[in-house]
Amino acid sequence: MIKAKGYAAQSAKSPVSPWTFERREPGPHDVQIEILYCGVCHSDIHQVRDEWGGSIFPMVPGHEIVGRVTKTGDHVKKFKVGDLAGVGCLVDSCRVCDNCKDGLEQYCLNGMSGTYNGYEQDKKTPTYGGYSNVIVTNEDFVLHVSEKLPLENVAPLLCAGITTYSPLRHWKVGKGHKVGVLGLGGLGHMAVKFAVAFGSEVTMLSGSPSKEADAKKLGAHKFVLTSDKKSIDSVKGYFDFIIDTVSAPHDYNLFLSLLKTNGVHICVGAPPTPTEIMGFNLIMGRKSVAGSLIGGLPETQEMLDFCAEHNIVSDIELIAIKDIEKAYERMMKGDVRYRFVIDMATL
Ligand code: NAP
Ligand code: ZN
Ligand code: ZN
Repeated sequence: MIKAKGYAAQSAKSPVSPWTFERREPGPHDVQIEILYCGVCHSDIHQVRDEWGGSIFPMVPGHEIVGRVTKTGDHVKKFKVGDLAGVGCLVDSCRVCDNCKDGLEQYCLNGMSGTYNGYEQDKKTPTYGGYSNVIVTNEDFVLHVSEKLPLENVAPLLCAGITTYSPLRHWKVGKGHKVGVLGLGGLGHMAVKFAVAFGSEVTMLSGSPSKEADAKKLGAHKFVLTSDKKSIDSVKGYFDFIIDTVSAPHDYNLFLSLLKTNGVHICVGAPPTPTEIMGFNLIMGRKSVAGSLIGGLPETQEMLDFCAEHNIVSDIELIAIKDIEKAYERMMKGDVRYRFVIDMATL
């Protein structure tokens, strides 16, 4: 076994703090990666605090992992020692169900293995995430990362990036579409960058007036303050799509009124409690509310390659791992510009 250092939550009530644990030695198809940076996703907060239920402790969070390959199993074909590598939100899946065969491993019908707060495919060995110095992952679930981009800014692409890229591609969002991005945090800022890159007209829908200038810098064409009635009224019936990245409960009915006929409200944000939707708000104008979970392995690689080609990365604030709880507190207040990334050298 490999001795790993990391930070873990021992329970939903305890802070994320230093912990040592073991990882498996790389098997024939495994890649061992020295983790250099790991992004901090709001899903880390939901899970360490057990807001979604069913959390597994001790929990080493982190699924926006980048680093360098330090060891490869005998049968590994895709990677060699010294290569840059990334690991996102999943580390395995059944590989035989219809969704896995279609490259939609995130929707594995037999249950994918989450990078943390989950189990390996044996359904009993817990998985531990990227707030640590090393990870061992089957090569099929490891991504190639370009040497051209600043590595710390690439880390958030592994979750925030693919989670917003995938629905925009699925719904073929592009030229001629008006897109609203709701919530300017980690996912929201990547949604703006991708929707702009795909040629859409993008409006930032934010509750934070202080983020207006940044939204424009990120490429948004318009800014609507969601707490201001006049501002909201100016976009009634306006959008083809809204990408909703908000982490806390909010009123979907209000945002349905901003959609055109046939408009789609795409939920990627995952608030821990349900919200009521009035049927009439869907019926009048044949509107839909949809959802999307991260992305499969082929699409994640496609997204990383697209980012390398178009020079797209995340805007980050690099932190020391000891400051992780402070980062969580700031995220809870919407105070993140626009992704915290842990510098693993501080571990
Ligand atoms: P984040 O960086 O904390 O950003 C969330 C943003 O939502 C905030 O910056 C804020 O934007 C807005 N917001 C927060 N609290 C709010 C409230 N009470 N009312 C209205 N707006 C509020 O979070 P993130 O990492 O982007 O994650 C966002 C959500 O997506 C989380 O629920 C996360 O679990 C989920 N997620 C889902 C997937 C998936 O596969 N579907 C993947 C990753 C994450 P403004 O200041 O602009 O209002
Ligand atoms: Zn995430
Ligand atoms: Zn499967």
